[in-house]
Amino acid sequence: MTESRGLVLIVEDERHIADVQRLYLAREGFGVHVETDGIAGLAAARRMHPVAIVLDIGLPGLDGIAFCRALRDVGDWTPVLLVTARGEEADRILGLELGADDYLTKPFSPRELVARVKTVLRRAAGPPGQTESVGRLNVDPISRTVRCDGEPVELTATEFNLLAYLLQHVGQVFTREQLLARVWGYPGYRDTRMVDVFVSQLRAKLGEASPIRTVRGVGYSATASGR
Ligand code: CA
Repeated sequence: MTESRGLVLIVEDERHIADVQRLYLAREGFGVHVETDGIAGLAAARRMHPVAIVLDIGLPGLDGIAFCRALRDVGDWTPVLLVTARGEEADRILGLELGADDYLTKPFSPRELVARVKTVLRRAAGPPGQTESVGRLNVDPISRTVRCDGEPVELTATEFNLLAYLLQHVGQVFTREQLLARVWGYPGYRDTRMVDVFVSQLRAKLGEASPIRTVRGVGYSATASGR
């Protein structure tokens, strides 16, 4: 088995879904490890250091939400792609708030899965760029760290990318669709509420130092001076 693109951990209790996921990811050159319950999955995440985790929400042992919380609580920011069933919207939003990077709703095509895993990894790698100091924030795209008044702020890969993108374009107003295309890499993607979820997470973490301004009826922009 080639592992040239790194190991992806799949945590999925429906065998036939896990088999298809494994097949398509392996075909793209990922190493794949499958666990079918949440507790074994979390142990595998800690033991194997995967480059990304494809995480079902409804799992025996430990559900995807508790899994995500347990991972982030110990400062593990491995990109997580949450897999949700229809009707699990509240869980999906909670999962994003707990630090999942993206989600897929069942049923999805295997190609969609592969594309999303690649996107999550690309985002985690992030765009190269200059250190930006804006207001009380210092953003270093090389080490992917954010400091507020000199203190480090823990952000997920996606939170970091959204903040960095807005700060690279201070004063420019973006629609949610534009941010989905440029930060998430989903041109034409319709579920723009994801942008709102991530903006509110950033605001919660940055408090009054948050530079993100809501432009009513349009979208978001970053200001140089904070709100
Ligand atoms: Ca399930």
